[in-house]
Amino acid sequence: MKPIYVTSPSLPPLSEYVELLEKIWQSKQLTNYGPFHEELEKELAQKLGVEHIVLFSNGTLALIVALQALRITGEVITTPYSFVATTHALHWNGIKPVFCDIDPTSLNLDPARIEAAITPRTTAILPVHVYGNPCEVEAIQRIADTYGLKVIYDAAHAFGVEREGQSILNFGDLSVLSFHATKTYNTIEGGAIVCHDPKMKLRLRRLQNFGFADETTVVAPGINAKMNEFQAAMGIAQLRHVDGEIQKRSRVALRYRELLRGIDGLTVFRMPENVRDNHSYFPILIDAKLFGRTRDQVYERLKANGIFSRRYFYPLISNFSTYRELDSAKPENLPVASRIAEQVLCLPLFAELEEETLLRIVGLLKAEAETPIG
Ligand SMILES: *Cc1c(COP(=O)(O)O)cnc(C)c1O
Repeated sequence: MKPIYVTSPSLPPLSEYVELLEKIWQSKQLTNYGPFHEELEKELAQKLGVEHIVLFSNGTLALIVALQALRITGEVITTPYSFVATTHALHWNGIKPVFCDIDPTSLNLDPARIEAAITPRTTAILPVHVYGNPCEVEAIQRIADTYGLKVIYDAAHAFGVEREGQSILNFGDLSVLSFHATKTYNTIEGGAIVCHDPKMKLRLRRLQNFGFADETTVVAPGINAKMNEFQAAMGIAQLRHVDGEIQKRSRVALRYRELLRGIDGLTVFRMPENVRDNHSYFPILIDAKLFGRTRDQVYERLKANGIFSRRYFYPLISNFSTYRELDSAKPENLPVASRIAEQVLCLPLFAELEEETLLRIVGLLKAEAETPIG
């Protein structure tokens, strides 16, 4: 049987992409703010319901540039429960990450714990909308306003996510998206920053293009992080189909939910009712005591059957060698994140996941639950 991975990238019909590629061959503009770049920027701003957006070659460079653009220094409060790029972006800017525990329900940075982590060196908060689940943006903003901190959201999972009909990307000083192949919407590799005024947009554009303000003027030590025309063309083609893809994902998620009901020790992660989910992941939590198997045993059993689920997010970022010596990285400081990291498993979720495969995955999980330990 062919292996099933946690995700399988959505692709537009090949002919649609080829048609756009032919235009690149005619214009010979391959990168540097070509026509597809400018078109995608407009279309995405409209689609996402945001005023200003700057496209990037990938999400990690977008995070690094976002921190540069706001001149963040010193210490930044962040979550250990994320993809490692979140904290790496701080490290690349010479900023000290300060890990703060997560909320056991939302799995996002717990606002109630942020204040205790603030020091005179703190300049910003870097939360993540994990699985696209919106952070408690009002509570976080209140703290930021009280202490004069910036807020940068890692919104890598949050493409198209709305709360109460409002894009979640409009909160904080900047929000950073990823359009990597594994995400709900992809431009092969890619990313973007959502900002709120034209001055910041100009600054971001300069920083992603070596700091050039014009042909002969360099105003800042910028980097090269521009999106090229092949990525932008892919983005344009993908955008035509993304709603349908999300709808298909939502059907798969709903089916899992129906079938995984009432299993002791297996909890399906849930979004609040007022959120329009993009179904980027399908996380479940395995409580070994009640379920009868550990998460890792379940993971291995699925793997032995050709089902490659992923432990997003395990290990915690704070456990990687670069960060584990930090005071804030101690597991005692992060009890909730440490527990969740031992329980979480993301099941395969993609638009083309077939019912037959889904039944097989559910069957394996149920068989695990019903087999006594020993
Ligand atoms: C994917 C991801 C990134 C990095 O994005 P790339 O486009 O792969 O560089 C950053 N943060 C989170 C939470 C992610 O999931």
